[in-house]
Amino acid sequence: MKRRKLVVLSVDALVSEDLALAGELPGFGAVMKNGCGVKRVRSAFPTLTYPIHVMQITGRNMMDTGVYNNEAFQPGRLEPDWCWDVKHIKTPTIFDAAKEQGLSTCAIMWPVLAGADIDFNIPEVWDREDWDDPHRIYQKYCSPGGYEYFKKHVDKLGWHPKPAYDEFAICLAEDILEHEMPDVSFLHVSAVDIARHYHGIFCKEVYGALEQVDRWIIRLMAAIRAAGCAEHTDFIICSDHGHLMITRELNLNVIFREQGLITTDGQGVMTDYRAYCHSASLSGQIMLKNPGDPSLYRTVWELLCNLQQEKRYGIRRIYTKAEARREFALSGPFSFVVEGEEGTAFGHRHTGRAVILPVDEDYAYVIAGHGHRPQLGPQPVLLASGPDFRKNVWLERGDILDELPTFARLLHLKIPDLPGRVLGELLLEHGE
Ligand SMILES: [Zn+2]
Repeated sequence: MKRRKLVVLSVDALVSEDLALAGELPGFGAVMKNGCGVKRVRSAFPTLTYPIHVMQITGRNMMDTGVYNNEAFQPGRLEPDWCWDVKHIKTPTIFDAAKEQGLSTCAIMWPVLAGADIDFNIPEVWDREDWDDPHRIYQKYCSPGGYEYFKKHVDKLGWHPKPAYDEFAICLAEDILEHEMPDVSFLHVSAVDIARHYHGIFCKEVYGALEQVDRWIIRLMAAIRAAGCAEHTDFIICSDHGHLMITRELNLNVIFREQGLITTDGQGVMTDYRAYCHSASLSGQIMLKNPGDPSLYRTVWELLCNLQQEKRYGIRRIYTKAEARREFALSGPFSFVVEGEEGTAFGHRHTGRAVILPVDEDYAYVIAGHGHRPQLGPQPVLLASGPDFRKNVWLERGDILDELPTFARLLHLKIPDLPGRVLGELLLEHGE
């Protein structure tokens, strides 16, 4: 028997409600008719792309992985760096376990893997300070094997002013799958998520993005067939979170500045902070300069509680660090987590107005977003087909933490002490 291969495609922000339309398309339809899945996967708080994708490759909660936000904590920067580098991840990944077992590995545009030890690694990364030449940053962060493919396909990379990776990622994946067919391949596309952010949760732009993803699925399957691996490859489509419509942008840092907790120079540039809201989009992570200072802690807590009393700020709940850990297995260097009422997005700004509404002229936020509690709104999904999966078995519910143990079972990898479970209901027993 040939050794099993695994291909995992993350379709960012794909949700249950998409499946009726997706199932009618030839690519999604082939996976769904020949396979099985989970209709609603419970994601994690905050529902952000980078922390969730790290959970999907480690099987661990955010309090253990060390990745609790998309963005690095860089107070005062309106556009902080993202957590690209694999050094942000504090726990082993499936790629580490696969390598130990001698399996070959591939990751294309999978978040938080820049610099990871993966045979063909072309990570999602950009440099806000240096848009001249993507070769510079990619030579540094690709694996040597990945960089050879990067050079071959770099003309398909949309780079400046905002990177567009999807078509580039699919070209890389087609080439690598057809010619190398690694044992374990993970790739990530963002078209559906981007359409939702800019156009709304359910609209023609999102349906267009689903059709585009469908064409990519067909190309990936053709590449797997061309490699002669169709019969012994498990193909999985997963997603990370849903979206909610945004009803207001709340810039807590404006209030912190007004209260003397953030100081600025004459140009409004931040010079120091004692409290800072690190945006997680639909929630905020409140950093204290000196978390051990009881007077500062009390001041900020009371301020947040007072703001919560005023409806116009749209604050639903304030969690202490201990509550965030207990209720969401979420931890980080923050002292509080602030959750908005449905649709309150937290901005970074420390100047201007604290509350900006979508109808306002200076509203510059996207119209839909995430970072909310995972119980709310549309839910992500898991679709699976291949020699190890049953046909037409659909679980109503699963947990994002169940994905990694299931992937590990397919590859016969032993990863101890995982909090999730193998989705055994979806799997064929050996010899069945
Ligand atoms: Zn995402």
